[in-house]
Amino acid sequence: MARAFSKDEIEEFFTRLQNQMPEPKTELQSLNPYTLLVAVVLSAQATDKSVNKATAPLFRIADTPEKMVALGEEKLTGYIRTIGLYRTKAKNVIALSKQLLERHGGQVPRRREELEALAGAGRKTANVVLNVAFGERTIAVDTHIFRVCNRTNLAPGKNPLAVELALEKKVPEKFKLHAHHWLILHGRYTCVARKPLCPTCVVSDLCRFKDKTRDGAPIRKLAAAQRGRARR
Ligand code: SF4
Repeated sequence: MARAFSKDEIEEFFTRLQNQMPEPKTELQSLNPYTLLVAVVLSAQATDKSVNKATAPLFRIADTPEKMVALGEEKLTGYIRTIGLYRTKAKNVIALSKQLLERHGGQVPRRREELEALAGAGRKTANVVLNVAFGERTIAVDTHIFRVCNRTNLAPGKNPLAVELALEKKVPEKFKLHAHHWLILHGRYTCVARKPLCPTCVVSDLCRFKDKTRDGAPIRKLAAAQRGRARR
């Protein structure tokens, strides 16, 4: 079994990710907490890029629960049909918009239980909304974070909840606000699923992965993505 990270190593791990990406941001585009919530619900089993492509025109005409309900399920389906599971997601977005109007005066609630009770939203959705919209120190575990935490042995766990709870315990408070984004971007651009770019990885010497790769392109994509966000 791989050796667990020491406190100093965890500190070093996040310090290096922080130095590499001082201001990490979500790649999902949104205009307000409501559109963020919708974007996160739409992003389940879909790429952020595909969601952004669909939501850019959608949010121009429906950026509040009232407008989304007025748009209706059929028209909404037309906007999001390029995203996987779009029929179910359209139903959920209309349902959650009605729930927001009925239960929360049209506002996105700030309490985890209330967020998780919305149609199509689960723990991951609640964590992203709490973190991005309300600045809370939650760490949502998606497929990238799950892979990075198990591969490196930073916070191993059999399922996303186990990894989240391990991160919750291990990540120093000062890194918690951005930990989700650092890990997700690291997994998306460097510690990629099929062939991680270990030679250019800033935490390679700390990582416990046994099958590190020996060749890998420079992390141009990450740099480009960071520049793109800076311009937006
Ligand atoms: S060394 Fe390789 S496996 Fe380890 S975190 Fe970096 S990219 Fe991932």
